[in-house]
Amino acid sequence: MNFEDSPQEAAYRAKVRAWIAANAPDMSVLAPEERRAWHDAHKEIARVWQETKADAGYVCISWPKAWGGAGGTAIEEAIFGQEENRAGLHFTYFMTGLHMLLPALLEHNKDELSLSLIPPAIRGEKIWCQLFSEPSSGSDSAGIRSAAVRDGEDWVINGQKVWNSGAQIADYGMLIARTDPDVPKHKGLTAFWIDMTSPGVEVRPIKMMSGDNELNEVFLTDVRIPDAQRVGDVGGGWKVVISTLMNERAALGSGSGLSWRDIVKLAGQVPSWDGTALDDPAFREWLADLYVDAEAIRLLSFRSLTSLSKGAAPGPEGSAGKLLWSGLAQNLSSQALDILDHAGLLDDPEEALMNGAFQHRFLWAPGLRLGGGTDEIMKNIIAERVLGLPGDVRVDKNVPFREIPRGR
Ligand SMILES: Cc1cc2nc3c(=O)[nH]c(=O)nc-3n(C[C@H](O)[C@H](O)[C@H](O)COP(=O)(O)OP(=O)(O)OC[C@H]3O[C@@H](n4cnc5c(N)ncnc54)[C@H](O)[C@@H]3O)c2cc1C
Repeated sequence: MNFEDSPQEAAYRAKVRAWIAANAPDMSVLAPEERRAWHDAHKEIARVWQETKADAGYVCISWPKAWGGAGGTAIEEAIFGQEENRAGLHFTYFMTGLHMLLPALLEHNKDELSLSLIPPAIRGEKIWCQLFSEPSSGSDSAGIRSAAVRDGEDWVINGQKVWNSGAQIADYGMLIARTDPDVPKHKGLTAFWIDMTSPGVEVRPIKMMSGDNELNEVFLTDVRIPDAQRVGDVGGGWKVVISTLMNERAALGSGSGLSWRDIVKLAGQVPSWDGTALDDPAFREWLADLYVDAEAIRLLSFRSLTSLSKGAAPGPEGSAGKLLWSGLAQNLSSQALDILDHAGLLDDPEEALMNGAFQHRFLWAPGLRLGGGTDEIMKNIIAERVLGLPGDVRVDKNVPFREIPRGR
């Protein structure tokens, strides 16, 4: 495989790089503490950037025009993402909706109501959250206990979700609920989209060790939604889970966030015994290894891209990218704190170099190895679905969900 841009791709890259340079938001208008994700001012900059991109046809580039996309190619979309990342524009508010949930929704629903959800998401006017995980169902994503019971034309939902990124600001959520407890666990699930302002939806923020509030608990009490908000078939929820998780891992595994370029920028500002940390042979050796790992992730993401450009859905190979990328994020931030020495303890964005981006990432990085599927689950998927090794033990596979023993 040739990893270089073709002449057309190189021309596209040059065009979008110039466009981004001319239109990118000026982050310097933000105070240092506002430059962190989930701050209102940061979110507003992200929304305006999303709108600017949408007007220029640079959102959902590979989606068909009928869905509100630009009708371009998966390669063009990836190039745009790489150039955005290169320009330091890391906004994640719209990723859950546009890269994970809405593609899954459109794979299963083609009705007008579902299609009407797309344009406001593309323009950044509506934010989506993923309501899958529960206190007893994380890695075991088919073990969901929240129940949806049919009542005439509606469904009535009761249960609890947890670790829901962005639920505190989300307008809509995609929810998986159990609709039939009498069949094995994977077969009794159904997906729905819900308006987060529906009566009975209560979002309780979880304070993270980074100081952020990205994660939440979501309590659902007698939430009534019309059957028109069902995604896919009754009992077909597992298919929606799989499409979403494959999209999620492919998106995460494409390797966004702080990169080797950022740590080079940081190291050039940190005094060392002979110049800056960039001159330190031990750091240079580490940097070379990190660069090789980052390149491996970049090239691996081309595999997903190749299958996407041939019209295939993201496959289990996205798990390898996700596994490597989250480990790299932890390695990168941990090394940054090492070279900062005692200044690495300083998290104050006003005082710390590069507004404390690495300190903040360091506190975030462990979570990256859990969200979207833990390292162990990624390894199980690679073992079973990529390498064809024997499967994990699944004692509850063919047991009706109701009969699976549960703790008190
Ligand atoms: C930053 C972040 C963002 C998240 N965002 C969302 C979101 O937006 N929406 C949402 O629904 N969820 C979200 N999650 C939840 C996430 O999907 C779960 O945390 C994850 O799937 C793990 O589930 P759990 O926390 O219940 O851990 P458990 O599943 O209880 O796992 C505990 C430990 O056991 C290991 N383990 C479990 N099963 C196996 C197995 N079969 N083989 C080997 N080891 C195993 C795990 O690897 C882990 O180390 C997020 C989590 C984080 C950290």
